[in-house]
Amino acid sequence: MVQESTPHTLDIEAIRQDFPILAREVYGRPLVYLDNAATTQKPQCVIGAISEEYRNANANVHRGIHYLSRQATDLHEAARDAVRRFVGAASRAEIVFTRGTTESLNLMATSYGEAFLREGDEVVLTQMEHHSNIVPWQLLRQRRGIKLKVVPVTDSGALDMAAAERLMTPRTRLVSVCHVSNVLGTVNPIRKLAAMAHARGAHLLVDAAQSVPHQSVDVRKLDCDFLAFSGHKVYGPTGIGVLWGREDLLEKMPPYQGGGEMISRVTFERTTYERLPYKFEAGTPDYVGSHALASALAYIDRIGWERIAAHEADLTRYASERLAAIPGLRIYGTEADKGAVVSFNIEGIHAMDLGTLLDRLGIAIRTGHHCAQPLLDRYETESMARASFALYNTRAEIDALAEGLERVRKMF
Ligand code: PLP
Repeated sequence: MVQESTPHTLDIEAIRQDFPILAREVYGRPLVYLDNAATTQKPQCVIGAISEEYRNANANVHRGIHYLSRQATDLHEAARDAVRRFVGAASRAEIVFTRGTTESLNLMATSYGEAFLREGDEVVLTQMEHHSNIVPWQLLRQRRGIKLKVVPVTDSGALDMAAAERLMTPRTRLVSVCHVSNVLGTVNPIRKLAAMAHARGAHLLVDAAQSVPHQSVDVRKLDCDFLAFSGHKVYGPTGIGVLWGREDLLEKMPPYQGGGEMISRVTFERTTYERLPYKFEAGTPDYVGSHALASALAYIDRIGWERIAAHEADLTRYASERLAAIPGLRIYGTEADKGAVVSFNIEGIHAMDLGTLLDRLGIAIRTGHHCAQPLLDRYETESMARASFALYNTRAEIDALAEGLERVRKMF
């Protein structure tokens, strides 16, 4: 076992105590949870926020004049303010609560598509997108006849920026790109892409599902026009996510779904809509989820991005070194600017077998296509193994992974 020797002052043992699930065993072994890009574990403060609200402050929001409804509404709207501060948005009107990144991107395809995209208009994606940032645009292509263009990825896992420059034309209306790849870990140059898009009068949408959990994300610094993320990947609960959009653009977009909450006045002849952001939030929102998400964001704030980022960078570097030393192991995504993800294959062993055998050792990694089949096609493989890290992971857990992989390799 290697001692923790990281250039920062995170008290990992204390942090691990905040996450009750990390104390459990699987198959009689301590859990080594390295599937954080799929979802993160939850600190006690988030679990507590959920149960506290159901115990003490549960009532439907916005419509009630009674005490509990006002209290629940205050918590929900305070959560919106917390998200606004977290992403550096100018106004709370710009923070739309959704079910997650996937719903945020579908909202964009439907509603932005309706307002801004006509037949023949181009949406530029990249080869490293999650299916959530591909399929909604394909559905829109069927409805609207838009064109999709795809920026290729280099062998080391970077976007081919010269190709991006060529692919964007005066017909390009939107560039929709992940901030960090969930497979390669590559951190994409969002400001450069924003400049390229804006130079053609196009907008930039950032899928920040894999960046928001690992670094400070400021929509003004990124110079993007829209940004989507999921609560459950950033230590918050499942079922809540965010779409941030520039207010002037959101104003021009029609509602995504109809129902309660999003209306101003309904008659059978005509309905007028609520102001932003409620226009996009039909039905009872996940007000318990938003409150718990705010509690997750406050938890991150207390620890501080600098220390989290330093710790995760250390883990990623250490894991890359340890795994690269395993004979026959290939790492996908070797860019210097890389998030807390290491995807790999070992020659002659199917990733599913790797995952299954590691699981018996108590080590949870993800295997398969990672909802990025076009990217896996690019690397001519159907499956990869992926270890992904969070603030509570340790070098000792990476040692366990490397030793587990060596054991599995010797079985083949
Ligand atoms: N985009 C990226 C880059 C992702 O990694 C994920 C989930 O893994 C998603 C979108 C979809 O997120 P969700 O399933 O929370 O909607």
